[in-house]
Amino acid sequence: MGYETDLLIAGERVAGDGAALEIENPATEQIVATVGSASSAQLDRAVDAARAASKEWASMPAVDRAPLLRGIADGLREKTEELAILMTTEIGRPLTESRDEVEWCAACLDYYAEIARSEIGRVIPPIESSQFAVVVKEPHGVVGCIVPWNYPLLLLFWKLAPALAAGNTIVAKPSELTPLSTLALADVFSGLPAGTVNLVAGAGETGAAIAEHEGIDCVAFTGSVETGKKVGIACAARNARVNLEMGGKDPFIICPDVADEALAIAARGGAWAAFLNAGQVCTSSERFYVVGDAYEPFVEAFVEHTKSLVVGDPTDPGTDIGPMVSARQRDKALAQVESAVGAGAQLLTGGSDGGRETGHFLEPSVLVDVPGDADLLNLETFGPVAPIVAVDSLDEAIERANGLEFGLGAIAYTRDLANAIKCLKEIRAGSVWINDPLTDNDAGPFGGFKNSGIGRELGAEGLDAFREAKHVHIETEIEIKEWWYPYGE
Ligand code: NAD
Repeated sequence: MGYETDLLIAGERVAGDGAALEIENPATEQIVATVGSASSAQLDRAVDAARAASKEWASMPAVDRAPLLRGIADGLREKTEELAILMTTEIGRPLTESRDEVEWCAACLDYYAEIARSEIGRVIPPIESSQFAVVVKEPHGVVGCIVPWNYPLLLLFWKLAPALAAGNTIVAKPSELTPLSTLALADVFSGLPAGTVNLVAGAGETGAAIAEHEGIDCVAFTGSVETGKKVGIACAARNARVNLEMGGKDPFIICPDVADEALAIAARGGAWAAFLNAGQVCTSSERFYVVGDAYEPFVEAFVEHTKSLVVGDPTDPGTDIGPMVSARQRDKALAQVESAVGAGAQLLTGGSDGGRETGHFLEPSVLVDVPGDADLLNLETFGPVAPIVAVDSLDEAIERANGLEFGLGAIAYTRDLANAIKCLKEIRAGSVWINDPLTDNDAGPFGGFKNSGIGRELGAEGLDAFREAKHVHIETEIEIKEWWYPYGE
């Protein structure tokens, strides 16, 4: 398979002049392509192109932008198989999951193409009867998108779709691990005026250059807390607008009323929430709190189901879980497992590469009796690892759920209305899912409390992240106001 390795700048494909990025297939450990990063002159050209395209795009009525956005969605759907194979090659995740991701991107474009037509502000009550007042929402200008590797296209389109729909132009950078699926998008943007979307490649240095670039008005970032803080500081230093989507350590709570068949279903839902994309989802369930008597049957059902999952070649249709994205990520997750076991935790299944000679595999792992201060219960793991903890009450589960610096998502299983309401009111997280793990909705905001983020993607909130509010106050009379000078009369 040939790979598109050129950048997209001002509507033209150009080879990156900067440092070479070697792209590895994590299942085979082979280097499949080499991509040149954008040099700093190329990044400047991309920003200039986005600025030049900005006036025409910003002034285009949303009703005219809408078919262009839907055209991008159509282009994505037509390329589903190609993009899915590229993502599976770069990340190692099962093809089914990669195909789903392409459709989610297209649906997000369709959603923003339409909601951006509904309003660009609001009419507000004036101060006096001779006046008329409105709030107008305007695009920021050029938006820089900095994207991680775990959902390379989805997390790009969660930024790009609302930003374009609001009238901004784009300079986007995928992760250094996964540029191929993003660079393959050049032709889906061919219906837009040249320079409206520019795609550059590069590692952290290029990301930092975007965050610091005076020609970029707003930065939309998804990635780790550590990097997000750097991006936030760089944007604050120049008063650029910024949206930060960062890491998590999501809790999964089994309320005391859950038993029998519901408990077995919750165990399957839990395994999916912990192991989807080899646990490399920002909202992966990374700590399970089971209240009371449900603990033992839940652990038993969870382990049994985990042992039935098929780990292997992500291109094989029967595979549930592929390798992790890199040796580094696998080693980080494995180190947390080994350290917890060293401190007294019991490993019930997983905890190794399953004897495979190639590929960055970590078998889905379930642990119990993990000491409360273990990294596995406190730091982001970002791997297929599920520590399960017994707790005495729902209050204790919620207290532990809220006890960390993170607040991205949380899941609770219950049939009891009072328990559900208690969870949704008391858990401090940007998404709370009751009985249906990880289901996103384009119409609902996504983002984090605390260190998990600032701002929101998706929903009306996700459109507003890319608009500046302007208050317009119109007085229809030209008259002297009684509160002007002189005060002495
Ligand atoms: P990362 O922070 O290492 O990198 C993210 C992006 O930032 C990459 O494109 C990288 O090249 C770039 N970058 C690196 N250093 C930079 C710098 N100094 N300035 C600007 N950009 C820089 O994260 P990752 O390993 O690619 O992704 C995994 C992390 O992303 C996890 O912590 C995960 O929880 C988080 N994540 C969050 C969400 C969310 O919506 N909240 C979604 C997915 C992933």
